[in-house]
Amino acid sequence: MSNSKLKKDFPIAGKTHYLDSAAMALKPRQVIESVKKFMEESSVNVNRGLYTIAEKATEIFESSRENTAKFIGAKPEEIIHTSGTTMGINALAYSLQPKIKKGDIVLTTEMEHHSNLVPWQELCNRTGATLKIIPVKNFVLDTENFGAMLKNAKIFSCTHISNAIGSINPIKELFKKAKDSGTITILDAAQSVPHTKINVKKIGCDALVFSGHKIMAPTGIGILYVSKEHEEEIDPFFYGGKMINSVELKKSSWTSPPNKFEAGTPNIEGAVGLKSAIDYIKKTGIEEIENHVGKISRKIREELSKIPEVKIQQEENPKSSIISFTIKGVHPHDAASILNEHNICVRAGHHCAMPLMKNIGVIGTIRASTYMYNDTEDVNALVNGVNDCIKLFGVKK
Ligand SMILES: *Cc1c(COP(=O)(O)O)cnc(C)c1O
Repeated sequence: MSNSKLKKDFPIAGKTHYLDSAAMALKPRQVIESVKKFMEESSVNVNRGLYTIAEKATEIFESSRENTAKFIGAKPEEIIHTSGTTMGINALAYSLQPKIKKGDIVLTTEMEHHSNLVPWQELCNRTGATLKIIPVKNFVLDTENFGAMLKNAKIFSCTHISNAIGSINPIKELFKKAKDSGTITILDAAQSVPHTKINVKKIGCDALVFSGHKIMAPTGIGILYVSKEHEEEIDPFFYGGKMINSVELKKSSWTSPPNKFEAGTPNIEGAVGLKSAIDYIKKTGIEEIENHVGKISRKIREELSKIPEVKIQQEENPKSSIISFTIKGVHPHDAASILNEHNICVRAGHHCAMPLMKNIGVIGTIRASTYMYNDTEDVNALVNGVNDCIKLFGVKK
């Protein structure tokens, strides 16, 4: 992959050292153009219109669904459009409620984004089920008691890669055990889909969620994959137009998936952008992207590790796009402000994972995260910036 050639496709990447792709990926011109073209040429509502432009819009919208399905090894009818990861998990927590009763276990982990923790807390509050949490030890899941924890577990929802500390979880192995004991498996793939080859069948998940904006699509579009057998079983989470089979004044019946789960006008421009984002990934090659992201992120960790005041807050030999660290004597927020003066975009704080920060014993970390458009210029800028933070604030070790 020629690094600088790719960078040119991303208008913002040329203007700043953007190291916050775990919060949102930058958009290449191809995605921007596809959305613009759609709005200029075919921006009418989908599904209901019988005129030519409406048919064309529907065709484009549905081709995005097919594209996403192929990208993650699913069938088009298993792909449900949402507004993002948060909505996907909340939708599942709502739709699975009739299957959960007092005494059941809902299982998640200590390294989840709040969006994969709070909805399950609330489901347990509503049903009387018990929430069990797989603990984190030295930045990795402590699965020693996993087998025992699966007893009576109806749902197991887990992140693939931690957005806060970049740990990659052994998801296939965990889901195999969970499925063997009849537990519904849900994968938060928000941090893996952008640069890891994902196949829902190989992973063995019953449901998977991710956000379009972390994979270069516009905001407000996300994907909820639900396997066909579970789609038939669970209730819709939104009710209204498009999802019905027939409506009478006092009762109604639902149409089949995926429309059963897509009440109301969907985010059509979002789906157009998502299709073009996935096409961009396919053209570049997901393995190439994974390699590049791995290499750049490793380089950043290597360089930062040479600075005595820096502590990398991650597992041994991290492989993900995320670099999470603290600087002795420097508040993460102060570090982020100083880095901003160096034209570097990073994130600082608890990264929507307050229980995990408590586990590690920090108030927060500085998080740099990379994507296909980052290069050694960004690495050097970050290292200089961190050295400057230490000059200004740090205490010598
Ligand atoms: C970003 C993120 C979320 C939340 O995604 P939204 O797009 O804000 O809904 C959940 N889990 C992980 C691992 C994330 O990185």
